[in-house]
Amino acid sequence: MSYVVAVRALCEFTAKQGDLDLRFTPSPTAQEGMAGHRRVVARRGPDYEAEVTLEGCYEQLRVRGRADGYAPSANRLEEIKTYRGDLASQPHNHRELHWAQARIYGWLLCSARQLTDIHLALVYLDVDSDRETRIEQHYQAEALEQYFKQQCAMFLGWAIPQMQRLSERNSGLQALSFPYAQMRSGQRDLAETVYKAVSTGRCLMAQATTGIGKTLGTLFPMLKAVVPQQLDKVLFLTAKTPGRALALEAVRQVMTSAPTLALRSLELVARDKACEYPQNACHGESCPLAKGFYDRLPAARQAAREVALLDKAALREVALTHQVCPYYLSQEMARWVDVVVADYNYYFDQSALLYGLAQANQWRVAVLVDEAHNLVERARQMYSASLDQWLLQSLRRSKPVGMSSALQQLNRQWNALHNDQVAPYRASAELPTAFLKALQRCLTLIQEQMNQAPSGLDPALMDFYFRALQFSRLSEVFDGNFLFDISKREGQGRRSLSTLCLRNVLPAALIAPKMAAARSVVLFSATLGPRQFYADLLGMPGDTAWLEVASPFVAEQLQVRVVSNVSTRYQHRQASIAPISELIAEQYARQPGNYLAFFSSFEYLQHVAEMLATRYPAIPQWRQSQGMAEEARQAFLERFVEDGQGVGFAVLGGAFAEGVDLPGTRLIGAFVATLGLPQVNPVNEQIKQRMAERFGAGFDYTYLYPGVRKVIQAAGRVIRGPQDRGVVMLIDDRFAEQKVQQMFPGWWAPQKK
Ligand code: SF4
Repeated sequence: MSYVVAVRALCEFTAKQGDLDLRFTPSPTAQEGMAGHRRVVARRGPDYEAEVTLEGCYEQLRVRGRADGYAPSANRLEEIKTYRGDLASQPHNHRELHWAQARIYGWLLCSARQLTDIHLALVYLDVDSDRETRIEQHYQAEALEQYFKQQCAMFLGWAIPQMQRLSERNSGLQALSFPYAQMRSGQRDLAETVYKAVSTGRCLMAQATTGIGKTLGTLFPMLKAVVPQQLDKVLFLTAKTPGRALALEAVRQVMTSAPTLALRSLELVARDKACEYPQNACHGESCPLAKGFYDRLPAARQAAREVALLDKAALREVALTHQVCPYYLSQEMARWVDVVVADYNYYFDQSALLYGLAQANQWRVAVLVDEAHNLVERARQMYSASLDQWLLQSLRRSKPVGMSSALQQLNRQWNALHNDQVAPYRASAELPTAFLKALQRCLTLIQEQMNQAPSGLDPALMDFYFRALQFSRLSEVFDGNFLFDISKREGQGRRSLSTLCLRNVLPAALIAPKMAAARSVVLFSATLGPRQFYADLLGMPGDTAWLEVASPFVAEQLQVRVVSNVSTRYQHRQASIAPISELIAEQYARQPGNYLAFFSSFEYLQHVAEMLATRYPAIPQWRQSQGMAEEARQAFLERFVEDGQGVGFAVLGGAFAEGVDLPGTRLIGAFVATLGLPQVNPVNEQIKQRMAERFGAGFDYTYLYPGVRKVIQAAGRVIRGPQDRGVVMLIDDRFAEQKVQQMFPGWWAPQKK
């Protein structure tokens, strides 16, 4: 068995030493980097060879990669790097890593072309000034060969046990059986379809209700496909923390059923949840866990690979034992495990770690996307950025050194954008180029300061920097799938201020390459319909398979009553308060127990709750409040005890409308007094217009589908298992419309009340 490693990955493993230091980063974007490479290559002579594919072996190791360029006439191999800021501030270990790559490529080229010596050059291109700095060294082939062997030997010390583990893992996975004696109804169907999708290299969209065991029903077939499909990683992506916990639980179930399985799994958490020194900056002069990080990393990595499931707690323990940063250790371990459980953004974001690693290392990955109906909104957020002028104003007041003229210029350009604007909101399909230029100048200046400030900059300046950077980066991918909008308001002293937003409305084009790069992406959710809506917005490939898993529940379990003599439209709300409170009271009198009542806003919720409290004080009730803290949320849920009685008031689309599991008599019914339609506002109206242009379904794609999906999710809280019985009251005349009822789960049998 041979082990294939990319030159870059080999060098990152063997040649990184010293401190973790993110001051010289963020580096240019991938687009800037590629464009920079092209510019450098274009300046070279006609004999210049770009992207030279090279490969070499050492014992079981096959090393491969593409050198940036070779000039045969000068016998010079070049490693091209783009950068921004002050090159003199580049940390020593970054430079060393670049030399390591050049030396490895140098040897591979000498060996391929039988050269006895070679010139190696690091070419640094400043993406802002377009100036090149070349640093050159001359090497004998023998010296490079020795270096190559040394690096390979060092890597093999790690790779051989890794290969052994992978081989054990493969036999274990082939023998692996489902953790339970039987699969649940629908679970087998799901598992088989997932397996078929990954085996044929297709994506899959699967709609399946709660209760069939979707997590294990998707993870298990992917694990079984690892060997036949030669998958390098299975990525289990979730929208929220509870989903991550369920995925980790499924991994534990597999591990418990097969205790000797040599599978390695990892949980990735956000930096702010993993950081041990939130007040510090990520470099050796500020954070003790960054100091000497790469020197202690080998031992930490060694210890971490012994742990079968590196969840947050296990990873932290290893990291602290070896005094390295847990967050960056987890990023390192993503390279060495088989299953990664992480938030969506680790794969779908613009600079996503897992997607980047998969590309760089040519991994074959299978991706599971849990609660995938969330991906539309999450992707829109990932690919959007906003900047508030108030932030710039307060930054200007703090007078950061060396920035005043750049900030003033930025403010001038900003004002020019909205000075003539009369309406509070304006959307455009054009980028504000002069503003972006001024923003870029501020970014460059801040970056220079970051390079020079050992203990980090003022937090307000850094906050502005990261927001501005995100804005600037998104401007590079801005196209017809985005809006540029300006929301204007009166500031202090009657001067207007505005918020600028680069708003992604159609994420398909940015997501599609990520879908296509995986062997298979499986989207699953209880509410993934209409299928075309999600396929259009998420850029699913044309051959994506669809599965609607038969529900294990039957119509007799849930009375779905459509209350069509009430309207919950804004103009009818006042009139609806009394009838709704009467409906709740009647149902409660008929069948006392625990109920959830959902409304479109806190205000509406309060009105109905108050009327119910006044007219029926004997009915216990509790209410969701705005910005509820974690403990308060917990307390809200804890009121739903078995055989309990009362009504919990909540808002649709909020914390209690999704992902809440109240089985048995903990919840026997729900009232949904809203169609869930997103608010009609200028932004949504713009989205509606775009959706109409693209798909001819502006209202449905903007309001109806996202709204009714929330209703079905909320109603889905009632029936959680085959023994559950309950009632759902859908209160609004529009619930009687056929178009709306078509979206209901197939097993519901709605009746008019
Ligand atoms: S512990 Fe926090 S500050 Fe230190 S390196 Fe890690 S993430 Fe950065």
